[in-house]
This record gives sequence, structure tokens and C-alpha cells, in this order.
Amino acid sequence: MSDAKTFGFDTLQIHAGARPDPATGARQTPIYQTTAYVFRDADHAAALFNLQEVGYIYSRLTNPTVAVLQERIATLEGGVGAVCCSSGHAAQIMALFPLMGPGANIVVSTRLYGGTVTQFSQTIRRFGWSAKFVDFDDLAAVEAAVDENTRAVFCEAIANPGGYITDLDAIAALADRLGLPLIVDNTSATPYLCRPIDHGATLVVHSTTKYLTGNGTVTGGAIVDSGRFDWSAGGKFPSLSEPEPAYHGLKFHETFGPLAFTFHSIAVGLRDLGMTMNPQAAHYTLMGIETLSLRMQRHVENAVKVATWLEGDPRVDYVTYAGLPSSPYFDRVERICPKGAGALFTFAVRGGYEACVKLVDGLELFSHVANLGDTRSLIIHSASTTHRQLTPEQQVAAGAAPNVVRLSIGIEDADDLIADLDQALAKATA
Ligand SMILES: *Cc1c(COP(=O)(O)O)cnc(C)c1O
Repeated sequence: MSDAKTFGFDTLQIHAGARPDPATGARQTPIYQTTAYVFRDADHAAALFNLQEVGYIYSRLTNPTVAVLQERIATLEGGVGAVCCSSGHAAQIMALFPLMGPGANIVVSTRLYGGTVTQFSQTIRRFGWSAKFVDFDDLAAVEAAVDENTRAVFCEAIANPGGYITDLDAIAALADRLGLPLIVDNTSATPYLCRPIDHGATLVVHSTTKYLTGNGTVTGGAIVDSGRFDWSAGGKFPSLSEPEPAYHGLKFHETFGPLAFTFHSIAVGLRDLGMTMNPQAAHYTLMGIETLSLRMQRHVENAVKVATWLEGDPRVDYVTYAGLPSSPYFDRVERICPKGAGALFTFAVRGGYEACVKLVDGLELFSHVANLGDTRSLIIHSASTTHRQLTPEQQVAAGAAPNVVRLSIGIEDADDLIADLDQALAKATA
């Protein structure tokens, strides 16, 4: 499909990147279940390997089914290109890989998905990278954390475990002034609710495992490139601006301009790290994205109904959902995610840890799982599961106090969800 700018979101989520299969006319994007692609001749092969011509070589690098998904996600996010990966966590490593080197650090928000906190506080140290965790509502603290070895600023648009909206405009302006790329994890919001690039983000990362696929079938990730960052200014990003020995001294930024990051992620990142999305996963995610806007509308509508009901219930101490007027972040919704504050939030149960455990066990429709962004409604009691290893103080700081449960509201009938919570709360607080 050409000239994406003339089409609306609902059209693009179905058509962007896709065209009838040139060989067969197949209307749905085929699953190109192949590892390799036949070269036209030896010159064609050489040109592909030299990055002088764009085409298919081997599915660790590129695959036609995955390419459609990449173009679709890039279009929906307003980026110039995207690279898909095997998971959201893979996408985060792939996003940092061209920017970092031993001794480099990133400045990140304290309000992040639990797995990301572990990846950034522990695992990346094995590469000689580190992360500084800062409250992103405190811009002076963010700026103070940046030093000469900082290579990126990282946050979530709507942050886990819910109820927090990042002021992307303010953070992007600060990152810009400091000459640093801003990376935004847009998993919980999706491009339907928020487009971080419109607010100044350099790169957007996704766990496509969640709302983009939408039905809990496959893991995947994506990195979207805004194409707007000047990788050559300031000398901080030699992988993108300096000659690449593995490509006969090619300079990615000079050669590919705004697509430098995308090309580097495929030609070096996927080639050498191998965190590739497979075509089956891309197919499921493409099918999921076709209904993204419809699902997100219902997710948000249901989340508002359930959160409002919970807030009015005497068995509940408080609800942290930015879509409620009582939230300190309610004012940011209009500017950052005007179509809604997502469908992920926490609430505190009177009766503490014991009541939460009983609540989780007493629910019939809600599934107790470590996942989010499914069509099904999900619940997790973080203190007894994902945040079990933390001290009580750390649990409170992470928004996972012993008396708190997190909901991921699905697209079922809201009345059924409320009835299920009602009966389980009755058992839990009896
Ligand atoms: C799930 C999730 C991730 C990690 O994605 P995986 O696909 O599970 O690797 C990262 N960020 C957020 C906000 C998530 O919800």
C-alpha cells in the first residue's frame, strides 16, 4: 500500500505493508516458511551481501512475512522502519546494542515492567553496560543522572504495573537537549492509544506478545526507528557513524541516512545476535493487529467500568488507574494517550496478603497468570509471584505491596468481569 499518510489507523492496521502475494495472488499474507532464498546469479548474491541491494538472503536476517509485520508496525507508530525480534526482551537488547559499549550506561525510569528491571539492573552488567533508575517525574534528577557515558534514556509510555503515565513531551525535550536518544517501551499503550514518536521519542520498543498480537499465542518484539536522530553528532555512537569493519568500512549513518539504525539492526544486530522473529509468529501478530483499534477501545471501556466499580467498593482500599479522575496522572491522559489510559491497573484489597491470595484463587473468569494484554482478563498477585524475591520495602516501591493485585482487563462483557470480582472479593474478605 502506498502513501500511508492518506489512510486512517483502522485502514492501516489491516493494509499497511501488505499486498497480494506476487506469485499466487494470495490475499492474506502467506507464511513464508523458508530459511533461504535463491540468488538470481552470483552478482546478485554479492550485491546483497555488500548491502548494495536490498533483498532476501537468509531468514535470520529477513523474511517476507516478518517484513510485512515490520512495515505495518513502523507505519502505525509513525516511524521510518522497524525490526522484529523473538521477544520484547530481545527487542530491548537489540535497541541498546548499536548504542552501547563496555562502560556505557542508560538512564531509566523506576516504573518499568518487572522483567525489564531485572534485565537492566542485573543482566546487562555482563556486557559492561549499566542502568541508573530515576523517578521520571523528577526531571532534575533525570538530568543529574546523565553523565558522559550515558547513551540513552528509557521509559514506558503507560507504565507497568499501571496507573502511571510518563510525560513523554518533557522527557523527550530533556533527552534532546542532552543529545541523547529517547527509547520508549510502548507495549501497554500500543500505537492506537499513544504514538511516542509524535512526542519526540527516537526509538519505540514493543513486546508484540501483548496487545499487538492480542490473544496470548506467540512471543515477539519490535523496535521502531523514528529516523530523526543524528547519530553522527557528538561522536557518541561509533557503531552507527564510524566505519564498520564487518562491512568493509561501511558507515551506516552516512550510507543509509534516517534508516541507519534499522539497517544496522538487521545487518549487524540480527546477523550476529540472532534474536530473530519466526514467520509463524509474525503471521499470528499480523492477524492480531488487524483488530487492534477495536480491541483497545473495548479494553479501555472495560477498564474504566471495572476500575470505577472497584473504587466505589468498601472492600477495596484504593485503585491506581490513570483513567480515573482520582489518579494524579489523569491530567496527562488527554495529552499523552487521549483515547484512553490502557487496561492495566492495580488495586489494594482490605485484608492484605491473605485476602489477595484468596481473591486470586476465588476468581472464575480472571486467569491467574504472569502475562498482560490478552483478550482474556488476567490477574496477578505480584507479592506472592513476580515480586516474591523483593523485600517488603522494595515491593511497596515497585507498586507491588502485599495488599495489591494487578489486573489486565480483557474484552469480555464488563458486567461479567465485575460480577466475578464481586463474588471473589466476598470470599476473600469474609
Ligand atoms: C512483557 C513485556 C516486556 C517483555 O516482553 P516479552 O515479549 O515477554 O519478552 C517488556 N515490556 C513490557 C511493558 C512488557 O509488558
